[in-house]
Amino acid sequence: SLAPNDLAAFWMPFSANRSFKQRPRLVVGAEGMHYLTGEGRRVIDGAAGLWCCNAGHCREPIVKAIQGQAARLDYAPSFQFSHPEAFTLAARLAALAPGDLDHVFFANSGSEAVDTALKIALAYWQARGRGSKTRLIGRERGYHGVGFGGISVGGIVTNRKAFGTLLTGVDHLPHTYDRDRQAFSRGEPDWGAHLADELERIVALHDASTIAAVIVEPVAGSTGVLPPPKGYLQRLRAICDKHDILLIFDEVITGFGRLGTAFAAERYGVVPDLMTFAKGVTSGTAPMGGVIARAPIHDAFMQGPEHTIELFHGYTYSAHPLACAAGLATLDVYRDEGLFGRAAELEAAFADAVHGLKGLSNVLDIRTVGLAAGVDLAPKAEGPGRRGYDAMVAAFHDHDMMLRVAGDTLALSPPLIVTEGQIGELVEKLGKTIQAVA
Ligand code: PMP
Repeated sequence: SLAPNDLAAFWMPFSANRSFKQRPRLVVGAEGMHYLTGEGRRVIDGAAGLWCCNAGHCREPIVKAIQGQAARLDYAPSFQFSHPEAFTLAARLAALAPGDLDHVFFANSGSEAVDTALKIALAYWQARGRGSKTRLIGRERGYHGVGFGGISVGGIVTNRKAFGTLLTGVDHLPHTYDRDRQAFSRGEPDWGAHLADELERIVALHDASTIAAVIVEPVAGSTGVLPPPKGYLQRLRAICDKHDILLIFDEVITGFGRLGTAFAAERYGVVPDLMTFAKGVTSGTAPMGGVIARAPIHDAFMQGPEHTIELFHGYTYSAHPLACAAGLATLDVYRDEGLFGRAAELEAAFADAVHGLKGLSNVLDIRTVGLAAGVDLAPKAEGPGRRGYDAMVAAFHDHDMMLRVAGDTLALSPPLIVTEGQIGELVEKLGKTIQAVA
């Protein structure tokens, strides 16, 4: 058998790992809240895989649904055939989605979902004879996957700069992290709305007749769990309405109960024009993503009554039968076990437990929302983004715990089946890890 370091000669999972000495640890199984290693160790999953396994791992009803579907119908080319699971899943997603968002486009990942949403937004304005509306607006510290559209609107400069101009006509709103944005809040109780007014500045600069859409994660997830300040999303919605700009919520992380509601839109009471989903839709068991939009917006892109422009968009594996079966079974588990409500019920205990880490000397800031937490550590001399990563991951391994390490921020996002006892265990191990690398 090969050691992980030997295996790395054949396959390197993520490009960013190249700069790290720490190779991924091999896991051979998973169940519920745990990964299982080849040596028989049980590793508690504090990250729901990568923000996706919201129902926990290898849940029996989901496994059975995938097995049954694989035996029944493996694949159907969407040009000619579809299958009941695709339509049923679309209807179930439409029922969960906020407001009148009820038309679903299926893709295979969050990145594909984002690029699809951006294309739908541009096609919508073209179909309505307003083809000058092409500008897209993202946000600093926004993460929208790794497609060319997603990195263009994304707010991570290092992901963009190697690739030249990318999509042109993209602007970025300021991020919403309040420690960095104190100037906005000074003497301003409604600073969220004040911050969203930056959109008005961009509109004034470029004119609304050139702006197609704004895309934001309701809570910026992978860049550190940054909840929107009060009034922020509401004000974005109002400004978009005023200027005929489409509002896209990227709910790839915030969807499927992470915030105690089906989607963040519901939690914050703001209905976007389009929203993306992925990750939790199959609880990590099958690759799937997609977009949910209002009918007229969706139909401008797909062949609906208002279809006036020539284009093609669709993936070989859009609405793949196995992913659809997995999605349906996953939604059943969420419903039958009341997992979204469970996340809401656990929110306060989770927040209390994680905020207990505040006393540690190298903890700079902690943010929690729903069952997601970002813990910022004081940067070390090695420089931002590379601080003791290896040491941190090694310490997590020592404690049989899996967590997301992103630069100087640790993100905690356990499966929604987590118990209060397991929250305590996760936070205790996290505290020990933070102290070990202080
Ligand atoms: N959007 C958001 C908000 C995400 O968090 C992610 C993944 N972390 C993506 C898009 C991209 O999803 P994927 O990795 O499935 O392409």
